[in-house]
Amino acid sequence: MTTDLDSSAKLRPDLDCAPPHTRPRPSGTSREEETPDTLSGPLADARAQLADAIEILGLDDGVYSMLAHPRREMTVSVPLRRDDGEIELLVGHRVQHNVSRGPGKGGLRYSKDVTLDEVRALAMWMTWKCALVDVPYGGAKGGVRFDPKLYSRDEVQRVTRRYTSEIIPIIGPTQDIPAPDMGTDEQVMAWMMDTYSASLGHTVLGVTTGKPLELGGSLGRPTATSLGVAHVALAALSYLGRRPSGTTVAVQGFGKVGRGAARFLREAGVKVVAVCDEYGAVFNADGLCLPELEAHSAATGSVLGFKGGEELENSDALLYLDVDVLVPAAIEGVLHAGNADRVRASLIVEGANGPTTPAADEIFRAAGTLVIPDILANAGGVIVSYFEWVQANQAYWWSQTDVENRLRERMERAWNRVLEYAALHDISLRSAATVLAVDTVTTAHLTRGLYP
Ligand code: NAD
Repeated sequence: MTTDLDSSAKLRPDLDCAPPHTRPRPSGTSREEETPDTLSGPLADARAQLADAIEILGLDDGVYSMLAHPRREMTVSVPLRRDDGEIELLVGHRVQHNVSRGPGKGGLRYSKDVTLDEVRALAMWMTWKCALVDVPYGGAKGGVRFDPKLYSRDEVQRVTRRYTSEIIPIIGPTQDIPAPDMGTDEQVMAWMMDTYSASLGHTVLGVTTGKPLELGGSLGRPTATSLGVAHVALAALSYLGRRPSGTTVAVQGFGKVGRGAARFLREAGVKVVAVCDEYGAVFNADGLCLPELEAHSAATGSVLGFKGGEELENSDALLYLDVDVLVPAAIEGVLHAGNADRVRASLIVEGANGPTTPAADEIFRAAGTLVIPDILANAGGVIVSYFEWVQANQAYWWSQTDVENRLRERMERAWNRVLEYAALHDISLRSAATVLAVDTVTTAHLTRGLYP
């Protein structure tokens, strides 16, 4: 008896000859609580993008269902003793969307807005990202629902260690490798690595990436995501016939990704006229002085109150500025049907995961706004996480120049591949990137076969 899907699904190794396919969209899932009518937010967006790719590839509904749902997910209670002795119960998740091409890979998010559906969406996007830039991983993501800024460092450490100890059965260097995301950093990765290693009785450097250098981190990892964002932004400007000098950019989010993206674009000659964080936005038509702004933000916890610029009425006002390039580098769903027509930038480079909803994508496409999708634009982080894992597994360390040259090569290769495929089939960069990734993952998945 045949137990895999080879007979019903169409494998498409020769993508270049593939005309876009028209067929009804897969209707989603048979799970009652997740009907398309009730589902909204990042998971609905991720599934709509998957459905679009499945349709273009001419794959069947069974493949859609398989890829629309995570392979494995774990929800854990994280009881925390606060510094004042009170006990608080937090909830954490780890989702492995697909592991056909290798261990799960994806960040760990600490935010008050974490939900299981959000983590599922982020894990799915990780699967596509890893496939698109050809790193040998599947996709995973984790999250704990709390705002780390409201907790002491000791409390964050206790949350991290308890969460890690709960998910130990499903993580490891050959199973699933967490990395930093919103609200987490290299110290959190060090605590995770230590907790995992202590439970096994020996040091396992490869269980997390984005670690401090002293603990098997890689040179170039802290800035990898933002350097990758800058590489594709500059490649896109060149494609659009624009020079960096004379080009303006606004960056939403002044964290690990936004800060670095602003800095690298500034170094390339782009004028950074506005940045914002969750508290507010600052603007200077002559260009913000980034070293001073970084110092101000590090000292006060926000860009607000920075003397070298004027405050905008709120964070979202940054999205509608008259700039050439917009880099959303904060959270999902900030560009949507209700505001996409107010965006004036002609190039959007998605430093964040999932900042643009499918409805906004259609508005941008109709307006001729070029959107570089997240799974391409912010892939620098996972590329250098892969380099870190390779180095940790070999216990042999590369120079920063080696890391950054290899990062640039991979980003440029992925950009050229997506651009060519989009042009060939007259589809958006997001559709092209997702189609290329979904095809790679589907081929791997079905070639392995479905275990009976
Ligand atoms: P971070 O926690 O370091 O910074 C997040 C920034 O976004 C902060 O400045 C915060 O104030 C701001 N922010 C939050 N909500 C906001 C809002 N509503 N409006 C404006 N600003 C807001 O997080 P990060 O690591 O920089 O991640 C940012 C995004 O990039 C996330 O979508 C993440 O998934 C994605 N990403 C991160 C990495 C990485 O290596 N860190 C890699 C790929 C993708």
